Amino acid sequence: MATYQRRQFLQASLALPSIFAMNFDTMAEHLQSGASFAKQDKKLGIALLGLGKYAEEQLAPALEKTMRCKLAGIVTGTPDKIPKWKDKYKIPDKNIYSYQNFDSIRDNPEIDIVYVVVPNSLHAEYTIRAAKAGKHVICEKPMATSVEDCEAMIAACKKAGKMLSIGYRLHFEPNHLTFVEFGKKKTYGNIRSIKAIDSQEMEKGVWRLDRERAGGGPLMDLGIYCVQGAIYSAGVNPIRVSAKEGPKTDVDKFGEVEQSIDFQLEFPGGIMANCRTSYAESGNLLRVEAEKGWYELQPAFGYDGIKGKTSQGDMGLDNVNQQALQMDDFAACILNNKPTRVPGEMGLRDVKILMAIYEAARTARPVTLKL
Ligand code: NAD
Repeated sequence: MATYQRRQFLQASLALPSIFAMNFDTMAEHLQSGASFAKQDKKLGIALLGLGKYAEEQLAPALEKTMRCKLAGIVTGTPDKIPKWKDKYKIPDKNIYSYQNFDSIRDNPEIDIVYVVVPNSLHAEYTIRAAKAGKHVICEKPMATSVEDCEAMIAACKKAGKMLSIGYRLHFEPNHLTFVEFGKKKTYGNIRSIKAIDSQEMEKGVWRLDRERAGGGPLMDLGIYCVQGAIYSAGVNPIRVSAKEGPKTDVDKFGEVEQSIDFQLEFPGGIMANCRTSYAESGNLLRVEAEKGWYELQPAFGYDGIKGKTSQGDMGLDNVNQQALQMDDFAACILNNKPTRVPGEMGLRDVKILMAIYEAARTARPVTLKL
């Protein structure tokens, strides 16, 4: 069997039995009996829609390591990309679609899931079209660029009787799951405050700086990880947000979107999460201060290299292939008719929070959340 994460998983699961009993049941089962599973059962077919950086560098390689699903098709608007993908992943012509003929994917029984990996403003259109074509959908984060779009995506999947999940890979990452568990068990006592930073320099001329396609700046792209990290660390939804946009030092580059934004999420009981995201610096941190100590991830939100520390020492957890675990878990949910831990409703909640953060920054007033 593939050993890509078995060792790490087993190591982590020994160290943290309750976390994995809670979140990784299915994963444990299949990682431990993966070889026989792969032989006996059909793998669900995934079509990647949008062959950009994330699809090419992360998702397609991860799909070579999954056990319950496989790369079965592609959807692209760039014919030049087809030969490379076709050869590398042995994708038959009948499983290759353009955005124009995409809807005919409904007649293809080899595709069970469409994974939407295009710029944010296109998530709604392709999720809805995939659902109408009778496919389950994984949609990348942020779910969409408006609350209305998120609601329409959920409604379309519901109407089609198909499952919808969001590409929240960190819900499958042992360090982050440990934070969830620390919060639940109050391992370090009650949480006092949370700090989350996700910042990365952005080059000029990309769709991420285009309001129409991205829906906003670093908040939509990176700040969403701060929102997510703060919420699963706190274990509850926030009740209020406040925010302040940072100054633009490069007005040319940041003509359409914010360059940086600082925001606070207020949780029940007065716990505050102080967050920052920027496209003009780097930073990557999730830190929780609690009554009896602290715990932090730095870097916190990457595909690998995540390092966890607590006031008692290193967490010492190995990294896993987050995307492989995420996609295998979704396949397991479909096969077992169980809800995904990262559903469309979670994506909708987060887009509501992102919109409230923008409103708070615009009005310079706290915004009470209606989630
Ligand atoms: P990218 O620019 O590398 O790729 C985007 C793809 O969409 C390209 O293949 C491009 O040709 C295609 N496309 C189709 N219509 C387009 C249009 N109108 N404008 C521009 N491109 C168009 O971007 P990416 O980094 O792969 O991001 C794609 C999605 O994946 C985004 O929603 C992003 O937020 C998400 N993402 C998630 C993670 C994660 O860790 N979960 C990481 C990276 C990206």
